[in-house]
Amino acid sequence: MPGLSSIVRWKKRNTVVSWVFLKLITVVIFSRKNLNNHIESLDDTLTHHCTEKNRTRWVNRINYLVRPKFIRRFIEDRLNRQIPFHERVVLSLDEELSANLVYDKLKKNRQRWSNWYGNHASEPLQFFVPGKGSIAKFNELEWGEYDFEALVEISGKVKMAEQEGRRIRAIGSGHGLTAVSQCEDFIICTQDLNLTQRKARNFIKNEYIDGFDVMVNYNNKKATEKHFLFETGGGTKVDHLIIALEKQGLALINKGGSGIQAIAGAIATSTHGSGIGIGPLPGMVRSMTLVGKGGQIFRIEPRNGITDAELFAEDAEVRTFGIQLIQDDEVFNSAIVGIGSMGVVFSLILEVQEKYDLYEERAMWDWDKLKVEMQETGVYTYVNKHRHFEILINPYLDNQKRQRLENARKCLVTTRDYSESCEIPRNAHKVRNYLSSFVSGIAISGRLSHWVFNKNNASIPRLTDNSLRRLVDHAEDGGGYHAPSYKVLDQGLGELKFYGYAIEIGFELDRVFEAVDLIIAVCEEAKAYEHYLAAPFSLRFVKQCSAHLSMMNKADMCMIEVVSVKGVTGTISLLMRLERELLKIGGVPHWGLSLLPWTSETVEHAFPHFQKWKKNQATYGGEAFVNAFVQNILD
Ligand SMILES: Cc1cc2nc3c(=O)[nH]c(=O)nc-3n(C[C@H](O)[C@H](O)[C@H](O)COP(=O)(O)OP(=O)(O)OC[C@H]3O[C@@H](n4cnc5c(N)ncnc54)[C@H](O)[C@@H]3O)c2cc1C
Repeated sequence: MPGLSSIVRWKKRNTVVSWVFLKLITVVIFSRKNLNNHIESLDDTLTHHCTEKNRTRWVNRINYLVRPKFIRRFIEDRLNRQIPFHERVVLSLDEELSANLVYDKLKKNRQRWSNWYGNHASEPLQFFVPGKGSIAKFNELEWGEYDFEALVEISGKVKMAEQEGRRIRAIGSGHGLTAVSQCEDFIICTQDLNLTQRKARNFIKNEYIDGFDVMVNYNNKKATEKHFLFETGGGTKVDHLIIALEKQGLALINKGGSGIQAIAGAIATSTHGSGIGIGPLPGMVRSMTLVGKGGQIFRIEPRNGITDAELFAEDAEVRTFGIQLIQDDEVFNSAIVGIGSMGVVFSLILEVQEKYDLYEERAMWDWDKLKVEMQETGVYTYVNKHRHFEILINPYLDNQKRQRLENARKCLVTTRDYSESCEIPRNAHKVRNYLSSFVSGIAISGRLSHWVFNKNNASIPRLTDNSLRRLVDHAEDGGGYHAPSYKVLDQGLGELKFYGYAIEIGFELDRVFEAVDLIIAVCEEAKAYEHYLAAPFSLRFVKQCSAHLSMMNKADMCMIEVVSVKGVTGTISLLMRLERELLKIGGVPHWGLSLLPWTSETVEHAFPHFQKWKKNQATYGGEAFVNAFVQNILD
């Protein structure tokens, strides 16, 4: 039986939300005055003054209310009065942005591909969807099987492209925001290349079969961990891979902020998470099978790789399909981050670990104080106090606060550690605070957000401070977030990600503060023209990686991601200006998160082993795998 006090609290919470919601509706219908403040107030109430259950109930109610088209039309009509055309809100479109677009296997011609953001599109001559797997029915698949039929089919398509003098390219989930995936001739959609999900055993050297010891350096302590080998299809979505691993008691060592990418797509651009003791996703690859030049199938590994060459050579299927084993550091380092130009990655063997839980804490800091602490301790030692360490910084000072002499720049520090290595408070939660309950739950909120920011752009500094504060662990009762690793590693930005755009630039650790100062200065300058970044920018620390085209190739890096909200006037120009300025001071751009055109000079400067990559690309990938984006950097 719930106690009297919890019933009273429950009633109080519902009354507060009802009241705030009623005020919001009244303002939409009658005046529109300070509407953005009312939206924020609802957001704040749902985030800070509701239990998870309570909040979900309210979010569902609001979604139900705004489902009828005439309601959305009505809101649209109210909000769009006296609003410039380019800042208008469209709520009545039923079509939603989808992370789960499924392509039709039977439709080879007249298909249209576009990346998820819609800023790059291709209408290729032919569109192939090989594979007996299924993105839509992943859980029903025979996970152990290796799809040789699809391997042969892809090999045939590559030969066909070469014979016809055409270009060919694999696509993953289309989450690269650059033109890196675009191809006008033949596209191989990898959505159904997700059949193989098994512990790697075939032709694996004995010392790797049942796990092997690996030295790690987290929390500034060296330790040994047991890792394992797992084989997966190149088209497997990261979220699906996580499911397959979990069922076998395993987990990814790390992941990016979301799991919507295909694993080969994520690896091809050196996608990363955070943790100065952990490399990006390509750092977890131990072997990859790809279809390259001439339709030849290669199994590529470092020298002393995991495959027993003798056992491999004796295998009947290896002979039938003519798979060539290459154990060479240079070729391997070129192939892992191949940006789609080393061939079609069919399957991968990844280093993984036993499943584990993480404990996360999020706390507000003044950036200047944090900076001093980091400088005094040394950046590496400071960020390596935890397995994962991330910072979100408000590019602006909250002007309204400045008048009250509280003019500190706010930032949010996120730390994550193995749960067994820390003391978990009794009030730690199994659910996390989303960036914003409003944004992450309500169907129309993503489409509304640019309106809120455009309408009162001067309040963006305050809104950003407030949204950072909403991320702090459960304001009412404190305590961090404790859950299985894959949940904690997911950034939990909900739908907001679908309405954002980002650039990301890497810096060696001794340049971090210079880069942050530059971002702040450029944003401050643009403010005079009423152009704002409508989100905090993030700092994620990542270990060095041997892949020639990895952004972490040179050294341990701090990856700075600058995000803004689609439709906020001035945002794209500001992101472009920031990218230009950050590249000027020696930043390394992200293959999938960039707005400026890439040139050979940019790449030569940022990736010191580019010439080695070029040579191996010509040998193993060849001209057919060069699209316009890559041609630009080769010329
Ligand atoms: C919402 C969102 C969140 C993101 N989060 C992060 C993050 O946390 N960290 C980070 O570093 N980046 C992040 N990114 C960037 C993203 O991870 C990369 O752009 C990644 O490459 C996208 O993977 P994808 O499967 O969508 O690949 P695509 O965009 O489809 O393709 C990317 C490249 O991979 C190649 N490719 C795909 N599949 C294959 C294959 N089977 N064989 C050979 N080449 C292939 C393509 O040809 C192309 O060159 C994010 C992007 C978005 C939109």
